[in-house]
Amino acid sequence: MLEREELFARQVGEDTDIVAKELYRFADRDGTQLCLRPEATVPTLRARAAAGNLGAGTVRVWYFGAMFRRERPQRGRYRQFHQFGAEAVGSLSPLLDAEIIMLCARIWRELGVADKLELQVNNLGSADERAAYRKLLQQHLRTRTDDLDEAARARLETNPLRILDSKDEDTLAALADAPEMAEVLGPASRKHVDDVVAMIEDCGVKAIWNPRLVRGLDYYGLTVFEWALPGDERRQSAVAGGGRYDSLAAQIGAADAPGVGFAAGVERLLELADLAVEEQADAYLAVADGAIEPADALRLCESLRNAGLSVIEDLKGGKMKALFRRADQSKASLAVVIGTREAAAKAATIKHLRCSLDQREVGQGDLPAAVKEMLSSGAAATNR
Ligand code: AMP
Repeated sequence: MLEREELFARQVGEDTDIVAKELYRFADRDGTQLCLRPEATVPTLRARAAAGNLGAGTVRVWYFGAMFRRERPQRGRYRQFHQFGAEAVGSLSPLLDAEIIMLCARIWRELGVADKLELQVNNLGSADERAAYRKLLQQHLRTRTDDLDEAARARLETNPLRILDSKDEDTLAALADAPEMAEVLGPASRKHVDDVVAMIEDCGVKAIWNPRLVRGLDYYGLTVFEWALPGDERRQSAVAGGGRYDSLAAQIGAADAPGVGFAAGVERLLELADLAVEEQADAYLAVADGAIEPADALRLCESLRNAGLSVIEDLKGGKMKALFRRADQSKASLAVVIGTREAAAKAATIKHLRCSLDQREVGQGDLPAAVKEMLSSGAAATNR
């Protein structure tokens, strides 16, 4: 999570929002400038390079972890959030770009969100082509500076490509008749991204060309892509993005290892997929006032936990009715209740809370086996 600041300043780009505005940076005790990682592609390559396994063959790796950006917090935009992603390094083949995009599509299907998302693609060409386009775009926008908002004007000389990303209406109007990247692309660059798109479409994933898609990180070339909800609110709705970065490894001092990858935002995916998992214990164990000692109740809970079951232990006691009510509120599958009658018989009553199957009374020593049996009969009954 902690990296040297210079790693990002150089590779992500001094003039990108992520570095210029959003990087959490501070000095270590010895004066070394550190930062909290805002993304994980650069750290992944740094770590692989440090371990000496970049450059020999193709490396395919994935990550999941916390990222930090000092943004204005709002829904879907947090200062600490989580990303998972994959990087495939060591080949110029468009097959690798297609593989990464298909991996995303597979994950969206598994999460049940594939139908909600749309894939946008752009071709950012080679470094030379980007430099040529940068000039063309600057020339055009210098004739329209009155229409540019403050952010765009600041970027005109430092990072004009990022202006394409603007949401400001006047700036967008100034861009309407701007030259497009496609005008400067040579045949090799064109073929690369066209091949990627042809391959993924052949596998049933539709790509929408977006000539204004530039991404917030400077290391991308050729293929760039984003997955987002269709419609206007794309920037807040993007759940994942990525692209090809052919000179990044060389720039961080590793072997010349071209690669491609993606990063997905976990919080946004959770919201989209409605994956909020309701924590549900297997059993809620409750003891009526004075029936058995707390230590004995704990020992019973532990015997269930030792059998791999999840158990919530009631802390309040009271009469049987109150015990069953709290058990039900806990959302557990079963109530395991010990009243004075059960205590005298060294037994417990197990009741289904999620279906109407009969309750059972079992000896306390038989609790783990009985709870397991009733869990599976309960599951079968509710699936029917
Ligand atoms: P990026 O590489 O900046 O496009 O980030 C990739 C994905 O991470 C985005 O599509 C979002 O889903 C997610 N993400 C980026 N920044 C944030 C943030 N501040 N809070 C929550 N999710 C974020």
